[in-house]
Amino acid sequence: MGGELAYSSRFVGWIAIGVIIITMASMEFYRRYNFIRKTKIDRAVHDRTRVMEEVQKQLRQQSRIDSLTGLLNRHAVLDELSYLMSALIPDELIAVALIDIDHFKHINDTFGHQGGDFVLEQYGLRLRQACDSRVAAGRYGGEELILVFSTVKIRNNIIEKMNSIHHNLVDPILFGKDDISVTCSVGLAFFSAGDTSSSLVGRADRALYKGKRNGRNCIVVAD
Ligand code: GH3
Ligand code: MG
Ligand code: MG
Repeated sequence: MGGELAYSSRFVGWIAIGVIIITMASMEFYRRYNFIRKTKIDRAVHDRTRVMEEVQKQLRQQSRIDSLTGLLNRHAVLDELSYLMSALIPDELIAVALIDIDHFKHINDTFGHQGGDFVLEQYGLRLRQACDSRVAAGRYGGEELILVFSTVKIRNNIIEKMNSIHHNLVDPILFGKDDISVTCSVGLAFFSAGDTSSSLVGRADRALYKGKRNGRNCIVVAD
């Protein structure tokens, strides 16, 4: 009788130990399981955040770029001009060139809107190739483009650079089997004390229209 009692209390003891071991093992299992799950979730959140950041960066970039020419859009280029004017270093020049394609309506009429778009694309490409850290290029609107020159000390260097860009722009453009002859007129204005971005662009615009009146395909430097 006494032996049976001792046996059953030992049995209960083993059961209790078994329950404790199983409970501890399950707790450890769930701890590890949760840790792995949390690590996976953290990694997924981190990856998703990086993707979202990249998309946001691309959207910000796209909102500054004109889709047809690949140049800065009007808003972005004027922003750049204002920034350069606010950070102007003494002795360094800022100049704005407005470029307007000559008789662009005629190009559209002859080669269709597609031909006109192709010319704008090629102008965008040529201007992007001409850009470096000293020249920002944008589409001012329609068939008008804008360059902002900065960090140059010698006026003639900007005029020479503008001449070389103009020379490059008026090279005929191969469109299918046709060569499109396309010229452009340019108004170039240098920043002077008291200028705002709109007064500077305004002087470039007046110089441009002087060029149009003088027969087009030329560069006019504003007084
Ligand atoms: P000017 O030599 O005096 O500058 O003459 P123009 O014909 O170039 O100037 P005008 O301002 O009379 O005409 C500009 C034309 O450009 C009118 C418009 O339909 C065309 N245009 C504006 N934006 C685009 C565009 O994105 N694609 C195409 N294909 N044409 C455009
Ligand atoms: Mg125009
Ligand atoms: Mg024009």
